[in-house]
Amino acid sequence: MKTLGLIGGMSWESTVPYYRLINETVKEKLGGFHSARLLLYSVDFAEIEALQQAGDWETAGRLLGEAGAALARGGAEGLALCTNTMHKVAPQVESLSGLPLLHIADAAAAAIQQTGLQRVGLLGTRFTMEQDFYVARLRQQGLEVLIPPPAERQEVHRVIFEELVLGKVLEASRRRYQEIIAGLLQAGAQGVILGCTEIGLLIDSQDAPAPLFDTTSIHAHYAAEWMLESPSHPTAGQR
Ligand code: GLU
Repeated sequence: MKTLGLIGGMSWESTVPYYRLINETVKEKLGGFHSARLLLYSVDFAEIEALQQAGDWETAGRLLGEAGAALARGGAEGLALCTNTMHKVAPQVESLSGLPLLHIADAAAAAIQQTGLQRVGLLGTRFTMEQDFYVARLRQQGLEVLIPPPAERQEVHRVIFEELVLGKVLEASRRRYQEIIAGLLQAGAQGVILGCTEIGLLIDSQDAPAPLFDTTSIHAHYAAEWMLESPSHPTAGQR
């Protein structure tokens, strides 16, 4: 099993499920007493959020890259960045840490391709929905991506930053997200990517009449599969 470094805390509410899901997958695959070889570098989200607001992605990338380098020194062989938005600085994280980054958009694209769907809606922060680092990466993998109209994007973003990252899960916001998802489906989406790691705290598969792709759970499973695919530290279950 390879050792994975998680860069989390953005927000910590959404990093908690990663730890559980990766361990559950490893236990399911290897059985017995097996659990995941993980390191976690959990940042102070206030610093990252302030840099997002200031548009200082350079400094944010350096902070996360240094976190990745610390995980590399601790023995991590690959990294998972537990947020969609901060994949904007994925190249910096990879170059400063010297480790491969398991990109969350690649994990999402692979999960969607497995279902055979081609046209998907995307919900996330405005950075994720509106900038190229995420949508272009999905398109490069042959997917058609729809995003909500501007006022709805603003509302999706507001709920993330004013509620979900602070651990507030409100029924009114769940209903609003359901309406926005319905709008994307009506516009032709065959499914919707929950492209922010907190959205799964608010919405689950029963909240929509079409497939929802929750990036937290998809990314965690993708990371666990990577850990198990070629063992660098042999474990009893894999020899
Ligand atoms: N966790 C969120 C995401 O997946 C938003 C918080 C952040 O800006 O990193 O995009």
